[in-house]
Amino acid sequence: MPDCPVSKKCSGCQLQNMSYEKQLEFKQNLAEKHLSGFGHVDPIIGMYYPYHYRNKVQSYFVQARGGKIVSGIYQSKTKGIAAVDSCLIEDKKSDEIIVTIRELMKKLKLTAYDRTNDAGFLRHVLVRRAFKTGQIMVVLAASTPLFPNKNVFLKELLKAHPEITTVIHNIADDKTETLVLGEREIFLYGNGYIEDVLCGCRFRISSKSFYQINPQQTEVLYKKVMQFAGLTGRETVVDAYCGIGTIGLVAAKNAKNVISVELNKQAVKDAIQNAKLNNAKNVRFYNDDATEFMKNMAAEKMKADVLFMDPPRAGSTKEFIEAAVQLNPSRIVYVSCNPETQEKDLMRFTRNGYKVEKIQPVDMFPFTRHVECVVLLSRK
Ligand code: SAH
Repeated sequence: MPDCPVSKKCSGCQLQNMSYEKQLEFKQNLAEKHLSGFGHVDPIIGMYYPYHYRNKVQSYFVQARGGKIVSGIYQSKTKGIAAVDSCLIEDKKSDEIIVTIRELMKKLKLTAYDRTNDAGFLRHVLVRRAFKTGQIMVVLAASTPLFPNKNVFLKELLKAHPEITTVIHNIADDKTETLVLGEREIFLYGNGYIEDVLCGCRFRISSKSFYQINPQQTEVLYKKVMQFAGLTGRETVVDAYCGIGTIGLVAAKNAKNVISVELNKQAVKDAIQNAKLNNAKNVRFYNDDATEFMKNMAAEKMKADVLFMDPPRAGSTKEFIEAAVQLNPSRIVYVSCNPETQEKDLMRFTRNGYKVEKIQPVDMFPFTRHVECVVLLSRK
């Protein structure tokens, strides 16, 4: 197994010292610790080649002493940086682009942002690569709208990496945040988004929209999700926490209609475009808090046959679950990246007329301690 040279300095991967086989065992145990009380936990689905799977690379830039620019992985615990040029789990091409950016900055005398003096230009870089289509997005998160040597920089970057399809200058002017993108964006090249293909559907992805970071395993995950849902074409489906609409759009091919809800405005914009891209006329998207939305649906006495839910790490809410039960779906497919909060939510469902039928962990994040689980619930 290849060793990571910065494993001691970087906390990005927590299981770096374990063989991949042991990692899968660790994750299986973690899933069982939280979920085996509900039923049998199927063996985790791992990757054949668990490296360079990340399609999203975020590199933090700092101005070191003596004017040298350092780029790498931000360490939230120490607020420091692990200098990294290539990472075992990140996309190789994206890493190469980041090194080019750092070299170009030196050549064109661009500075990295210096937090102590609130001076300097570049704060971080986000590169997203669509593995299926090859499209690449580069987001330069800078402290100011003023971009010194912009045209030369852009020309040289595209010359070195003609495979880049869009470049965005993001004005990340909230100085209290470290890796967050700002509201304002200037498209320097291309149309400001990339498109990828998953499960035969095409998806547009903008800079701030959530998109699964391991596309190969996402297909494995979504296939399980669809298998659990068992759609026949007659169902009314709800896709809560829908992101750019992926699960709902894959489901739409085998459902009567799909109602999707998502909080992030940019993701909903992408989702609406994605419905058009896939010619899905039976999907509606709502930009709302999922709990509020479900409460409204329940108040209007609306019903659903199948509910998909895929909340963030913190899990869902008591009110969401109470409203979901009111919609009376015969099946619920719950995707979670945190078995701890999933356990808490499943407890609520099982006390409210649902039983757990299937539990399937999928390894979406090799070398990290995170484990993703798909759970099928059915109405008792
Ligand atoms: N199902 C999607 C996205 C899952 S990630 C996929 O597979 O790609 C979780 C999503 O929940 C994110 O897009 C996030 O923006 C959204 N989200 C977070 N809090 C939310 C809330 N309170 N209401 C609705 N959506 C929320």
